[in-house]
Amino acid sequence: MVDDYDVIVIGAGPGGEVVAGRCADGGLSTAVAERELVGGECSFWGCMPSKTLLRPGDVIAAARRVPGAREAATGEIDAAAALNRRNEITNNWDDKYQAAWLEEHNVDVVRGIARLMGTRMIDVSGENGSTRTLTARKAVVIATGTVPAIPPIEGLREIRTWDNRDVTAAPEVPRRLLVLGGGAIGVEMAQAWRSLGAEEVTLIEASERLLPSEEPFAGVEVENAFQEQGIDVVAGALMIAASRTADDAPVTATLEDGREFVGDEILVAVGRRPRTQDLGLESVGIEPGGFIHVGDDLRVEGVDGEWLYAIGDVNGRALLTHMAKYHARCAADNILGNETYASGESRAIPRIVFTEPQVAAVGLTEKQARKQGMRVRTTKCDLSDVAGALVSGEGIEGSIQLVVDEARQVVIGATFVGPGVGDMLHGATIAIVGEVPISRLRHAVPSFPSLSEVWLKLIENYDAQGRTS
Ligand SMILES: Cc1cc2nc3c(=O)[nH]c(=O)nc-3n(C[C@H](O)[C@H](O)[C@H](O)COP(=O)(O)OP(=O)(O)OC[C@H]3O[C@@H](n4cnc5c(N)ncnc54)[C@H](O)[C@@H]3O)c2cc1C
Repeated sequence: MVDDYDVIVIGAGPGGEVVAGRCADGGLSTAVAERELVGGECSFWGCMPSKTLLRPGDVIAAARRVPGAREAATGEIDAAAALNRRNEITNNWDDKYQAAWLEEHNVDVVRGIARLMGTRMIDVSGENGSTRTLTARKAVVIATGTVPAIPPIEGLREIRTWDNRDVTAAPEVPRRLLVLGGGAIGVEMAQAWRSLGAEEVTLIEASERLLPSEEPFAGVEVENAFQEQGIDVVAGALMIAASRTADDAPVTATLEDGREFVGDEILVAVGRRPRTQDLGLESVGIEPGGFIHVGDDLRVEGVDGEWLYAIGDVNGRALLTHMAKYHARCAADNILGNETYASGESRAIPRIVFTEPQVAAVGLTEKQARKQGMRVRTTKCDLSDVAGALVSGEGIEGSIQLVVDEARQVVIGATFVGPGVGDMLHGATIAIVGEVPISRLRHAVPSFPSLSEVWLKLIENYDAQGRTS
């Protein structure tokens, strides 16, 4: 059986859903093939359950900073209720609402494993052994995402470990949790499970500090908070072996310097690799296994005919849901004939680590900017400098920094650390994408008494430094 569509999308994660919906809304007949759950990693084993697991600790911390509320927040977090809420948010790992959304937009959902079979042709193998061949008149969009990377550590592949799926879907709180990797997933999950009642949480990170790709002060401030919260951070430490004597026995992580750490579970969170094996990429002349290289139009490089697109995690440009959806909108517009380029992306990728304190950043770090040969100056202030912090609660602090391109006098990077700072990030994204000069930013007046008044402090401090460095 052959089915012809205008557009075929492989993978119905956030990227695939949005590109399919937008193409169909634009009048193109569209099908999306999905091998697991419509909604992808984000809805079921990523953003949504992880943020839900962090939320109770977040709310309690906020209440405990406010005299009056603090007295009402005296008990323990109810882990069972929190896990139940997580189950509701993932709809018990049932994708009926996401699938219904696609159907409402006239997108056909084809269940099964899709493989490219050459130019504009795809085979989808269903669970019952059937194969359906789909052909695309206009475009095929690859949106197959990523899977966890497993580092070559002795014993790690042989023992039972946790990946992002296990850690976000765990039915109960582990007593002792080891976390390998201090990036966004590692720090968020370490804190979530500690706040939900894990007695011992130990995070092992090879770099000297947490969140190594962000500004150095961000990782330091999160580590300080972790110390207060009873999370052990072992930084600058290379793990060389992992072992269990039995499947249900404790796991031992051995470091290069001989130290050993024991847990009941070990989360491996050291990065992601693209889901491009067994996708039939070789049938269109692309080497499988790596990220799929695309241009700013999201079309796959090295494939003639402008029919093949790759969006979201699988193209390796920015492994974040909102960026997958941005790619999806750009790709759909190109397919619909409205030429669009994902240009904003090269200047500003917003990213939020939802720990307590949060780390929210966009654009370049100071180091990245200097590496690109830019003449930059930073301006910094503390969240506690503004009245909004005082009214939000006691002890609210965290560093805020802008990186300014001195040649153009525009902001090119921003990092916010502190409770709830994530919601302030978009102002910085607009300033960076819009290339708003500092001289105009002075006239963007933040409300009193909001945390956004840090913008005034940042500009004041920038002016006070003078144009010296
Ligand atoms: C623990 C965790 C927390 C995260 N938190 C955040 C966050 O707070 N904010 C944020 O922006 N991002 C977050 N992310 C990242 C986010 O989940 C991803 O960036 C996002 O899911 C990427 O979307 P995608 O559509 O590219 O791919 P995916 O969501 O991975 O979806 C790909 C889909 O393709 C399907 N598929 C793959 N191969 C085939 C095939 N051959 N045939 C048919 N279907 C196929 C898969 O089954 C899957 O459904 C988090 C990730 C993790 C792991």
